[in-house]
Amino acid sequence: MMYDEQNIFARILRGEIPSEKLFEDDHVLAFMDIMPQVDGHCLVIPKKPSVGLLDADPTVFLPLFTAVQKLGNAVTTAFNADGVTIMQFNGSAAGQTVFHLHVHVMPRKVGVPVKPHSGKMEDIEIIKKNAALIRAALA
Ligand code: 5GP
Repeated sequence: MMYDEQNIFARILRGEIPSEKLFEDDHVLAFMDIMPQVDGHCLVIPKKPSVGLLDADPTVFLPLFTAVQKLGNAVTTAFNADGVTIMQFNGSAAGQTVFHLHVHVMPRKVGVPVKPHSGKMEDIEIIKKNAALIRAALA
């Protein structure tokens, strides 16, 4: 599959559509998932384009997973989480719906189930409130 410059995350990276950003540096951007499967569900993407993990330049993995670790610790603090689910899909058969490499970071609480993948758009005020909690934990 060829990388499509018009995919939604490429458009977020170019600032063409809004996102609730958590942090960014030269290599990665972290932002809130718009259809969260749990409160605090967020995403990390490398700025360098690739469809998924399998076609990525391996040099992106260090900054990408450093950011995943940082965000995993921040959501743990922000949501007093008991665990963190890290998820990453390659190809529509595997559940991928946006074709720019991304890693899901989801704070987990004992007894709280995960909602369906790409299920329902969350109220933007709730996303903003959860983003503020994560930003505070990152500070
Ligand atoms: P995938 O299914 O490709 O692993 O995950 C794509 C994720 O991106 C889904 O969890 C979905 O909720 C999220 N998503 C889809 N469109 C948008 C969008 O426009 N903005 C944001 N912030 N997240 C999105």
